[in-house]
Amino acid sequence: MTRFHFKCRDVGYECSYEVDQPQAKDMMPSIRIHMKYAHQIWTMPQDLEDKISAAIKEIQV
Ligand SMILES: [Zn+2]
Repeated sequence: MTRFHFKCRDVGYECSYEVDQPQAKDMMPSIRIHMKYAHQIWTMPQDLEDKISAAIKEIQV
């Protein structure tokens, strides 16, 4: 089975947020909500979204 994992630290924030989802399509919505409430990023810039996509890791469990 594959899961997708993201650590906020990996895109440069001093932040302990991590998210783990079974499907890639569920990652970005969770991360967007976190970015809004934790980092006041109301509209995600494309370069940040690209950085986040690159930092999402696919892991075998
Ligand atoms: Zn964060």
